[in-house]
Amino acid sequence: MTTVRTRFAPSPTGALHIGGARTALFNWAFARGRGGRFVLRVEDTDPERSKREYEDAILDGFRWLGIDWDEGPDVGGPFAPYRQSERAGRHLERAHELVAKGLAYRCFATAEELGELRAGQEARKETLRYDGRYRTLDAAEAERRAAAGEAHTIRFRVPDQDSGGETVFDDSIRGRVRFSHAEVEDWIMVRTDGSPTYNFVCVCDDADMQITHVVRGEEHLVNTPKQILLFRALGLEPPVYAHLPLILGTDGKKMSKRTGDTALEAYRVAGHPPEAVVNFLCLQGWALDGEREVFDRSELVEHFDVKDVSKGGSIFDPDKLAWLSGEY
Ligand code: GLU
Repeated sequence: MTTVRTRFAPSPTGALHIGGARTALFNWAFARGRGGRFVLRVEDTDPERSKREYEDAILDGFRWLGIDWDEGPDVGGPFAPYRQSERAGRHLERAHELVAKGLAYRCFATAEELGELRAGQEARKETLRYDGRYRTLDAAEAERRAAAGEAHTIRFRVPDQDSGGETVFDDSIRGRVRFSHAEVEDWIMVRTDGSPTYNFVCVCDDADMQITHVVRGEEHLVNTPKQILLFRALGLEPPVYAHLPLILGTDGKKMSKRTGDTALEAYRVAGHPPEAVVNFLCLQGWALDGEREVFDRSELVEHFDVKDVSKGGSIFDPDKLAWLSGEY
């Protein structure tokens, strides 16, 4: 049987939020309960917004919650997490492999050209979508222009876009999900400046790290068809996906600072015991059984299954956290 391998893949562009901490806990508990491996991968490919201090804050949050991870680029522990920025060579190798196979292509459209395309689509009230104008450029010609230093991006060639192609997958939480390829444009894998995009590196790394289950927030659901198509282009079976519902504020809307602190750190500073916070975060969308609300980490590990997470958003109830903190 394949070993379960999960990951938490934060972008170090801000404080660790309670939603992220819950995602990390669910991934950790799912792997720990199945004799699996849990990987921490810092997605620091955006040089402008990524900061080492945010990565440090994520690691502090992990230590406080008692979440450990199993591997990293170094040999022997304690492990530094994987950092995407340290894997740039591998990402470009994959991109060029896909171009060589015709599964991705170089696009020389300029910013002005794309701006005009967009303006036209807006004026006609059409869906904004790259129109595939460089799809059919002769491959040798594209290589010649690239070698001459002409600015270009590398785009993924979405199959069967105009012939009713669909990506269908079974999300462990949401059930069957379908995306028509007509809605998925030939998205950018590598930008003009040579930097790779999130969807591309995410798949490269999920593939290399042999991730079996991707458990993440539902804001990433729209990315999943792109990622599944890329897995298939690489000749690999995609992992199982599970998209977690939002944590909602007491007003029933996506939680924001107005309805409570979103940064995990605020709960540490406020003096909540970490065990209570772990317990509380896991109650956001998951329950041990119908009755018991207080449980410890080992019970979480024993009973947690991503399939039991509810589809609907959960309401973040500060009174319940205060009550739980009193129980610990
Ligand atoms: N870096 C992405 C984020 O922080 C990760 C998404 C994923 O888990 O694939 O939202």
